[in-house]
Amino acid sequence: MNPAARVLEKMPEEARRMGSLLTQAGYRFWVVGGVVRDALLERLPTDWDFSTDAPVEALIRLLSPSFRVIPVGLRHGTVHVLTAHGAMEVTSWEGNGSQAVLDDLRRRDFTVNALAVSFPDGTLLDPFGGRRDLERRRLRGVDDPLARFREDPLRVLRASRFAATLGLHATPKTLRCLRQAAPWLQETATERVREELFKLLTGPWVVEGLELARRTGVLEVVIPELLEGYRKKQNHYHAHDIYHHTLYAVHHSPARIRVRLAALLHDIAKPRVRKKIRGVFRFFGHDKENAGMAQSILERWLVPKKLAEEVCILVANHMVHGTDCWKDGAVRRLIHRVGEPLLEDLLDLMAADRMAHGTEAAAGEESVERLRQRIARILAEKPALDLSALAVDGRDVMAALGIGPGPQVGRVLKRVHRIVLEDPAMNRRDVLLAWIREKGRDVSDE
Ligand code: ATP
Ligand code: MG
Repeated sequence: MNPAARVLEKMPEEARRMGSLLTQAGYRFWVVGGVVRDALLERLPTDWDFSTDAPVEALIRLLSPSFRVIPVGLRHGTVHVLTAHGAMEVTSWEGNGSQAVLDDLRRRDFTVNALAVSFPDGTLLDPFGGRRDLERRRLRGVDDPLARFREDPLRVLRASRFAATLGLHATPKTLRCLRQAAPWLQETATERVREELFKLLTGPWVVEGLELARRTGVLEVVIPELLEGYRKKQNHYHAHDIYHHTLYAVHHSPARIRVRLAALLHDIAKPRVRKKIRGVFRFFGHDKENAGMAQSILERWLVPKKLAEEVCILVANHMVHGTDCWKDGAVRRLIHRVGEPLLEDLLDLMAADRMAHGTEAAAGEESVERLRQRIARILAEKPALDLSALAVDGRDVMAALGIGPGPQVGRVLKRVHRIVLEDPAMNRRDVLLAWIREKGRDVSDE
């Protein structure tokens, strides 16, 4: 059996239903685009796109009794059909049988995406040699690539995304066109750019994807700050320049967007703070600068606020060294500072950063693993990680000091919390009340 036909077996029931409604009325129905490509790669289908030669009015009339049909791009004849599997896209192409789907495929971005399988017989339509390109891991624009990139410059970024997610390599002609078209990416809506970028960053070939983005000029548009580290040497702890070290740190991080963004930005300010002192490059204060630059880049990409904040916390706290010598109190303070839900990402980032040094001298993954185990042990002891876990509260502070509500109450609680993080045995009501009576008045801002 033609392997692309297997995509039909995986088709959700609702899609099958749509196919039957249209084919019984004498029209044709094809599965198109990424899902066919993914079937050839034996990957699980994600979202479903279809094409039909039914005029859009007929399409809506035939599907409406069974589905909620939302006309999204009537100019292009596109509707969304709502199903339990999410919205499925059906595009109507008036034309003579297969001519309709050929017109559709010609509008797609890369040959590997310009594929269609006919329902229900399973015939593969591959007018641009996409299947062969996929086998050879070749990324090639459909038809006249430059004109196609002009129509929608997002395709230039999608090229790097497919390098990162599918391990494809651009052919020389496509590469030339990508280079010419990259500046046009500036005209594209930020949200679309961000979505593609996130997919790129979580791909298994992320180094190759980012390298293609650099060589084509996409990085220049999207994150020029990263290029400042290109060919910028570091010190003897590092085998790579700042740029390559960053790429390898992303690669060594797990494929989760939060930690990968943190890895991408973890040294972003380094080129700007690099100073040569007695012949050695030093990077004083770069953790704070990193977090500030990371924040402005994430804002520029309109990254949702919570995600952006979390990434900045990871960036600001990744420079943790000498933890083997730390007392438990210091580990508890780190847990408090970063917050329990971010700890796994922080440890993964620290390990990835060390793996990306590329030298023996700095290999410190084992110490990260030891810290991981210590954190697990300390968390199992259920330390008082926030003020609500203290054996005293604000009312106790006010009563013990004979004062009313005000900033002093908060200051005392914070100080008491610090004491408890240092020594959990102090978290007893009688002990803390005695401390507050004795020293609470003297607590001032830290
Ligand atoms: P994913 O794995 O993210 O679903 P995909 O390639 O399927 O990747 P979609 O955004 O779902 O991407 O688009 C489905 C199909 O529509 C693509 O495979 C491609 O054929 C076509 N397509 C999507 N975006 C573009 C675009 N900007 N220009 C041209 N064709 C596009
Ligand atoms: Mg898709």
